[in-house]
Formats: sequence, structure tokens, C-alpha cells
Amino acid sequence: MAVFRKVLALGILMAGLLLTGFTYGPEEGNRVVYQIGFSYEEVPEDVRARMRGISYPEGCTVPFEDLRYLRMLYFDYNGQVQIGEMICNKAIAADVTEIFYNLYKGFYPIAKIRLVDEYGGDDTASMLDDNTSSFNYRVVEGTTHLSNHAYGLAIDLNPFYNPYVTHPNGGTVISPVGSEPYADRNAVFPHKIGPGDLAYEQFKAHGFTWGGDWKTVKDYQHFEKKQP
Ligand SMILES: [Zn+2]
Repeated sequence: MAVFRKVLALGILMAGLLLTGFTYGPEEGNRVVYQIGFSYEEVPEDVRARMRGISYPEGCTVPFEDLRYLRMLYFDYNGQVQIGEMICNKAIAADVTEIFYNLYKGFYPIAKIRLVDEYGGDDTASMLDDNTSSFNYRVVEGTTHLSNHAYGLAIDLNPFYNPYVTHPNGGTVISPVGSEPYADRNAVFPHKIGPGDLAYEQFKAHGFTWGGDWKTVKDYQHFEKKQP
């Protein structure tokens, strides 16, 4: 069974590569190819152009040199192989690439992995679309201090099924709208991150902390790592 799954994974991978024309080399320019379909590199100029004025606003204090552009294969919720794009900090680029390679090998379903710029830099819109992403130069919702996403040191995974729960003025706010059923972590539903889940185990094994472990605010989609 294990062999069958490996052969199946390889077949799907090759088909995906043929369809997408993904190029492979151990190192092309500054691109580090971790595995076929999994690479990170300095942010190319065309990608910088897509980010400027959106996730990378005027006056952004994080230099592009500290960021990396990742391309990674993943299985979507329909089991189809897709190519994801992500921007994260160079300090965690190797970790993130390895984690998502392990998720791919484990057939872990991910709704989509797109740059937040495709949502106009709007984190709420990205969450509503269940988009997995990292870098976005923004403050923590409801505060004035920079989020770890502003440094590309945090990842939000499958956010619609793993909402962000806060308690302003003693109330409860669950983001994004519509994800309220998934704030009940005792409920059984797909794509739930937590102990025993492959993504949870992978991020933990790579030294990330999980927002679901926070004491008051709960951010079930969120993993972050301190810069070494
Ligand atoms: Zn987050």
C-alpha cells in the first residue's frame, strides 16, 4: 500500500510537472531547488512589481533582500496538484519549503497558496477565500503593532477552517465571517489543524509555535517562528 501510494504520488507529480512546465535544476541563478517542484529564491523583479503598493507598501521597513519567493506543489481539496506561490522571510524559507514538501508527500489538502496581493493585500479577503499565505506588511488586527506576517515569519494555513478568535470588550469575534462553526475545536470537520494533524506536527517539528496554543486570542490557522 505504501509503495502504491509512492508510485501514485510520483505519477501525479510527473503529470503535474508536464502540465505546468515546471523547470528543474539543482540551482538556477539564486534559486535553491529543494526537491522537484519545491524551490525558493530572492524575490524576482516581476514578483516585486506585483507586491509594490499592496503587500509591500511605500515605506515598508523590511528589505526585499530579507524575503524569499517560494514555489511549492500542493494537493488542493479536490486532490489536484497545484503550484503555490509564497513570500516569506529568508530565515524560514528552507524550513517552510521542507514543511510543504512533507505536506505534499502526505497528500495534505490545502485550499490554495497564493500571494495576498491577489486579494489586494486584504487579509480578510484572503482568509475568506481559504488562502494560505505568509508575508503581508500589516499590523495585527485591532492594534498598531506590526504582525509577524509583516516580517514573513508567520504562515496562515487553510484559514477558513481554522479561524482567528478574539475577545474584544468581553465579546467574541471570529474571523473570517462564516467560519464560526470551525471555532468549536471539539467539533469534527475536515482541514482542522491541531495535535495529531500532519501540518501541526510538521510546523512544531521545525520550531514553529501555533496560534491555537495562545492563551486568550486563538489563531488556529497561524504558525510563526522567531528569527534566530
Ligand atoms: Zn497569521
